Amino acid sequence: MAKINENFEKLPGSYLFAEISRRTEAYQQAHPEAKLIKLGIGDVTQPLVPAVVAAMHEAVDEQASAAGFKGYGPYEGYDFLREAIAEHDFAARGVDIAPDEIFVSDGAKSDCGNIGDIFARENRVAVCDPVYPVYVDSNAIEGRAGEYDVDAEAWTDITYMPTTAENGFCPALPDAAADLIYLCSPNNPTGTALTAEQLKRWVDYANDNDAIILFDAAYERFITEEGLPHTIYEIPGAKTCAIEFRSFSKTAGFTGMRCGYTVIPHELVRQGQSLNALWMRRQSTKFNGASYIIQKGAAAIYTPEGAAQVRAIIDFYLRNARIIKEGLEAAGLTVYGAVNSPYVWCRTPEGMGSWDFFNKLLEEANVITTPGAGFGPAGEGYIRLTAFGEAEATREAVERIKAIL
Ligand code: PLP
Repeated sequence: MAKINENFEKLPGSYLFAEISRRTEAYQQAHPEAKLIKLGIGDVTQPLVPAVVAAMHEAVDEQASAAGFKGYGPYEGYDFLREAIAEHDFAARGVDIAPDEIFVSDGAKSDCGNIGDIFARENRVAVCDPVYPVYVDSNAIEGRAGEYDVDAEAWTDITYMPTTAENGFCPALPDAAADLIYLCSPNNPTGTALTAEQLKRWVDYANDNDAIILFDAAYERFITEEGLPHTIYEIPGAKTCAIEFRSFSKTAGFTGMRCGYTVIPHELVRQGQSLNALWMRRQSTKFNGASYIIQKGAAAIYTPEGAAQVRAIIDFYLRNARIIKEGLEAAGLTVYGAVNSPYVWCRTPEGMGSWDFFNKLLEEANVITTPGAGFGPAGEGYIRLTAFGEAEATREAVERIKAIL
C-alpha cells in the first residue's frame, strides 16, 4: 500500500493568507460598497522595467530561429547571469564569490524550501520568530519539526528565537543546540536589518558549532542605511558556515517571472563533503534550470540602464514604506522597519491581539493588513503592512487608519 508523508497531516490547517482572503471576502460580500485597500500580501504592483522587457523580447526572438534556439539550459544557470551576479552583487561590494558558487533557480522560495534535501533529518533547526513561514513548514514536511502544538502555535522540535523590539530585532544565540539556523535580513515580516556586528556573532556561533546559517537576503536591495551588510559574505568567516538565498522577485518585479539564486561557497564543507557539490547533485536531479528568457531578463538588471530603472522602482516602494511609517507614527502607533525594507511592522494599540487589530482595520478603515501572529508566536501584538501598493492608495490607506485611531 502506498503511504503518504504523514508530516503533511501535521501542518496546521489554515494558511495565513488563505484566512486573510476568507475574512476579506466575507467582509466585502457583506459590504459590497466598501473600497478595500490591500496592504497585506507582499506581491509587487509595478510592471517590469523597459530594460528587462527588451532583453526578454530579444531572447524570445532568439528562440524563434534555428541558430538561436535553446533547449535545456545548465541546471545551475547560464554563465552570463552567474557572471553578472558575481560581479555586481558581490565583487562590487568587495566580496569574492565565483560564478560557480552561484546556482540560478526559479526563485528563493523553491531554494529555501528545497535546501533541506542536502541535510540529514536529525539536524536541529532554529528560526527567527516571527519569520517567513516557508522555513518552518518545509522542515515540518521533511520531519525535522516534531509535532505541532496547537496551543503554543509552535512545533515541538523547532527552536524559535524571538526577534522583537525588546531585543532590537536581533535574536539571541539559542539556548538549545542548533545545526541549521535560518536568518533573514532585511527580515520579513519585521522589516529590520541585522548589522555586521550582530551577524558576526552568528557567523562565529555557526563556525564554533559546525552549524550552517541559511541566510535569506531576498530584500537586500531595500537596504538604504550605510554600513549594513548586503550579503552575509561581507562577514569574515561566513564562507565556511553560510548559504545565501537571493531573489529577483522584489528586486525587479519578478514575482510572476520566477528567478532567484543560491550561493554556496566552495569552502562550505561538512563531513568531508562539499555542500556546493551536494546542491549541484540535488538540482541536477530535481530541477531542469530556470527559463533562458527569464534569465536574460534578470541579467538586464545588471546593465547601467536596467540598474537605474530597477532602483527607481525600489525607491518608489521605499517612499510608500516611509509614508506608512510616518502616518502610523502620527496616529500614535509604534512602528518598525520601512527604512531598509518594503515592510512596516506595527505594534497593535494597547495590547490588542494581532487578529483583533486586523479586523478593526478591515472593518473600520477598509484596509487589509497581515496579522503578525501568522508569522510565529512572537509576532502576536503586531501587524505587517507592505509598501508594494500604488502611491495614492497607500496614502489613502494611511489617512483612513489615522482617522479611526
Ligand atoms: N524569502 C523571503 C523572506 C520572502 O519574503 C519571499 C517572498 O515573499 C521569498 C523568499 C520568496 O521569493 P521568490 O519569489 O524568489 O520565491
